[in-house]
Amino acid sequence: MHILKFGGTSMGDAESWQRVLKIIRRYNRPFVIVSATARTTRKLLAAAEKALTDLEGARKISSQVHDRHSSLITNFINHQVNATPKIEKECTDWINQHINILENYLAQIYEQQELSPRIKDAVASIGERLSSYLFARCGATTGLSTRWINATEIIRTNSDFEKASPQVDYINEQAHALMDELGSDQIPVMGGYYGQDFDGNITTLGFEGSDYSASLIGAALSAEAIEIWTDVSGIYTCDPRLIPNARPIPQLSFQEATELAYFGAKVLHPSTTKPASQNNIPIQVKNIFDPDEPGTRISHKSVADGRVKAMTFKENCAVITVTSSQTVMGYEFLAGVFDILRWQRLPVDVVTTTEASVSIAIENDKALGEAIEQLKKYGSVDLQTDQGIISLVGCTENKTKSLLRDVLGNISVSTVNLVSISQKKGNLNIVMNTMNITDSVKSIHKMIFS
Ligand code: ADP
Ligand code: MG
Repeated sequence: MHILKFGGTSMGDAESWQRVLKIIRRYNRPFVIVSATARTTRKLLAAAEKALTDLEGARKISSQVHDRHSSLITNFINHQVNATPKIEKECTDWINQHINILENYLAQIYEQQELSPRIKDAVASIGERLSSYLFARCGATTGLSTRWINATEIIRTNSDFEKASPQVDYINEQAHALMDELGSDQIPVMGGYYGQDFDGNITTLGFEGSDYSASLIGAALSAEAIEIWTDVSGIYTCDPRLIPNARPIPQLSFQEATELAYFGAKVLHPSTTKPASQNNIPIQVKNIFDPDEPGTRISHKSVADGRVKAMTFKENCAVITVTSSQTVMGYEFLAGVFDILRWQRLPVDVVTTTEASVSIAIENDKALGEAIEQLKKYGSVDLQTDQGIISLVGCTENKTKSLLRDVLGNISVSTVNLVSISQKKGNLNIVMNTMNITDSVKSIHKMIFS
């Protein structure tokens, strides 16, 4: 069995839906996971934020979400000879019902003057709840036996809203029960990104988490492959939006792909590789506009020719430097600093240390302010914002030294803040001021890949 995941860019309009259905037809009974239609999740979250101060403004956004889905359905059904008025009505009712749910949440946010993580997840999930049901119903008008599956029935998580952890045993059980129950020709269509906790609250797996849903289902059903279908032909040597002559990489190891995703390659959610790699299921990243292109295959196989395979970058980072006070024992210092970051759930990106200080590059998260206050008990704390990280991945051991020399020779070194290099893992991370970061990415890419 193949798991096919189609992202927001693939779900944008009726024409794209037809393209996606054509791809689904190439497979024998796949399991389909879809994201919300392009930009809908952002809109929903914007409406929730707006509702704190301006309910009318929030309702305007909600009616845009309504209109967008209504016209998508009308466009789709107008071109479909087998569409019945019954299906059209079901779709219209579904949209109205979910816009009602949304407006109730918006009113609640306004009245209570609070946007809790729980409500935020419930609002954000509406995008996938709309797209998955509507797509399954529309798919059925084209002769495919697509059947909508509510992700709350399969994806069980803990209650860490906005970034919930999946409960794998439960998911495995439910996924198998579902497949036993489905008819042999039925194609399940499930919304990605959301699930439900054990108290019945809707949760989400983190922004852009549909890739992760696909991987969890793939692992549960021991799929042959997990295919991530998007608008580019795989994982490229760098973001093709910034570097137009970046090239797709045919093969990456799970570790290399995870590293790239974690350090900013938006094409894959960083958690996606874990269930796949643990269950030895390859991930294939493919292009809906060019389905015959091979794309990128991610598996345990690592093909190394010595050179860097890809690079990525992320902005919106900060560097915190803590200098130990005289009273703190050396052996307590680092443990204490990292413990605070653990309690604030702040993942560390790059670290360098001296005898009495540590510098940590980290995403510029809301929780950073609180962490800094607590870090002061270990010494003085300095914060530098406007930082970004460039990461180079997949270099073999003997080439990393010359790589460091070449890379630093190609960028403005005065803006570099921290550097970390691992010969063993074959990667290089450079933390620098964001002012120069895209120019530096361009010149490093040109040096390595042209
Ligand atoms: P989807 O809606 O299908 O989930 P995303 O927008 O999440 O799509 O991911 C696809 C986009 O990721 C591409 O259009 C591309 O601009 C961006 N991207 C960033 N880095 C890379 C990379 N290294 N390789 C390919 N695409 C990348
Ligand atoms: Mg994505």
